[in-house]
Amino acid sequence: MIDLHCHSLHSDGTDTPEGLALLGDEAQLTALCLTDHDTLGGVGAFLAMQPRVKVRLLAGTELSCHFLGRSLHVLGLLVDPADARFQARLEELRGRREDRNRRMVARLAELGFPITLEDVQAHANTPLLSRVHFALALAARGFVRRPPDAFVKLIGDDCPGFVPRQELSPSEAARWIREAGGVPVVAHPGRFAGGTFRWEDAMAELQRQGLEGLEGYYGEFRAAEQKYFVALASRLGMVVTGGSDYHGAHKPGLRLGRGSGGLKVPDELLERLETQQRFGSYH
Ligand code: AMP
Ligand code: MN
Ligand code: MN
Ligand code: MN
Repeated sequence: MIDLHCHSLHSDGTDTPEGLALLGDEAQLTALCLTDHDTLGGVGAFLAMQPRVKVRLLAGTELSCHFLGRSLHVLGLLVDPADARFQARLEELRGRREDRNRRMVARLAELGFPITLEDVQAHANTPLLSRVHFALALAARGFVRRPPDAFVKLIGDDCPGFVPRQELSPSEAARWIREAGGVPVVAHPGRFAGGTFRWEDAMAELQRQGLEGLEGYYGEFRAAEQKYFVALASRLGMVVTGGSDYHGAHKPGLRLGRGSGGLKVPDELLERLETQQRFGSYH
């Protein structure tokens, strides 16, 4: 069993990279890929744990793209963490995130929910501030009862206090990831749009834009969703990956390797992913 999607406190998770490596062994995983948003900041400490654990530790990241007027997440799996150009590109993305964060603070103040960036920073162990940390700050100020309520009322994608970032196009993300030696994969496709969304054409378009895989196994997918996306990947000739999207205490229902309970990502998927990494088509 493997898990190719999880977050540390270098983005919006709560576990240290070292802790994740140990947890990977505890969960009896064969391989574990760290995929923090917009950063490889935790990857050094994570990979340095390799001699101490049995689970194979892998490097990755998760990028946000704009597609059909919504936000689409793309995983960069097996990227080279030493790639200087990719590091610089991620730094540029973090700059755009900081700009969005400043504008979101201003927007929330306009709406009558004044918090400061320092309030938000106080809830993070990293300079990379995400909406998870905004939710904690809004709850601490008493503007919402619990952090998840902040996503319902204020900062969820369709809420008045949400400010979008300047996001990449899927083709740009795919190229950046390929050029860093990784495989670009559509993350949790079922989360992108409602249940009635027809994926057939959209996924084919993403494939044309350079996306080579899709996350067919996911911590919160229902059995029918998993079956649908695995079959779709097979029809299109895309690789299938899988992961829990574990965030530690920030997503309490999810366990590493297990997701919300029934997740079981087969080892063979990693072998196919590595074949794709070596021989996959460059777009
Ligand atoms: P950001 O990258 O700052 O836009 O924040 C996005 C992160 O917020 C996601 O990666 C999730 O961890 C979290 N998130 C987004 N929407 C929700 C939601 N509706 N409920 C809980 N967490 C969410
Ligand atoms: Mn997240
Ligand atoms: Mn995501
Ligand atoms: Mn994720």
